Amino acid sequence: MKQLLTILFTILLSTNFFAQTKTNKLNITHLTENFYIYTTYHSYKDEIASANGLYVVTNNGVILIDSPWDTTQFQPLLDSIQAKHHQKAVLCIATHSHEDRTAGLEFYRQQNIKTFTSLQTDSISKATNQKRAQFHFTKDTAFTIGQLSFQTFYPGAGHTADNIVIWFPKQKILYGGCFIKSTEATDLGYKKEANLQAWPTSLKNVQQKFLQPKFIIPGHDDFTNLNAINHTLKLLQQNNIKLSAVNFAPIKTFALTDTNVTAGQNYTTRQIKFTVSHYTLLPESFPVLDSIVTFLKQNKNVVVEVGVHSDSCINPNCCDRPTQNRAQSIVDYLIEKGIASNRLISKGYGKLRLIITDDQINKAKTEEEKEAMHARNRRVVLKILSNS
Ligand SMILES: [Zn+2]
Repeated sequence: MKQLLTILFTILLSTNFFAQTKTNKLNITHLTENFYIYTTYHSYKDEIASANGLYVVTNNGVILIDSPWDTTQFQPLLDSIQAKHHQKAVLCIATHSHEDRTAGLEFYRQQNIKTFTSLQTDSISKATNQKRAQFHFTKDTAFTIGQLSFQTFYPGAGHTADNIVIWFPKQKILYGGCFIKSTEATDLGYKKEANLQAWPTSLKNVQQKFLQPKFIIPGHDDFTNLNAINHTLKLLQQNNIKLSAVNFAPIKTFALTDTNVTAGQNYTTRQIKFTVSHYTLLPESFPVLDSIVTFLKQNKNVVVEVGVHSDSCINPNCCDRPTQNRAQSIVDYLIEKGIASNRLISKGYGKLRLIITDDQINKAKTEEEKEAMHARNRRVVLKILSNS
């Protein structure tokens, strides 16, 4: 009996593996010495996005750089710090006004943690109804807490007008926040408040001021690659080339919450995952698939094409068959959830419509950058064929 239970438990564990790694709400990774990266998750544009923050343990308490994005994780972060290090957080600095940095400021202030932003961040936070810190600095400021020294630096506008970075001189750690994109990033992310003209110069200011960093921590995704600043410069360059190019008719997109869609509109997701080289859906795909079901139930007359696109790595001899099978798996899932089959057309495009060509990918310097570009090509596109 005991053996049977063990086997059952093992099976349960293995089937839950993907779901569990994705639903962990707070991840803490040791960086070096007393430095830790904590990551929380938030849904952004129908996808689950991660946000990195940092904490440092000193003999006078723990320093938080930025607050969790996930508002349910303010207290769990403090709890796990207490459990792990038997220390309390004493100070929290947010590096710009967006909620992935500032969401917990008020909460932490109530816990008697000294909260800081720049005055510039505070005036933006005030105007945009974000949480605000208790204390503000008006210029670049050096802090010493216990044995730890660090400084804030305003490099100029970039991701936002107020973004700052934080430099730990002894350990040569550069905390970039959203001002620096991870080498995993395939675009600049949220750009509405960005200053695309000033951003490259601001990045170069940081490169000139803080030489040979041993760690560069971007606001989102992978934080192990020292090429992050150069990668951000490259994304800016690509973006600015695109801006200056002649603007052909843009592809019209729709969101899964829309109720007034028209033929020709597209919705792209990279959240639908399959087992490698097969067409079985992985459980992490179910949330977005269920959002698609809701969308189709709310838009009863819509007929959609479910198009699956691969990267260029697939064998040229097998054409579009694997992506056709994957498209059919998605359609089968939607039918099973009650969507009429005559509203769904499956189409495997294979590598016919790459967003990033092999020529562009071959110019990338590192394997990580190449893989990020391939990942950009792997996508599912819903296209509205009719709505009447
Ligand atoms: Zn931001």
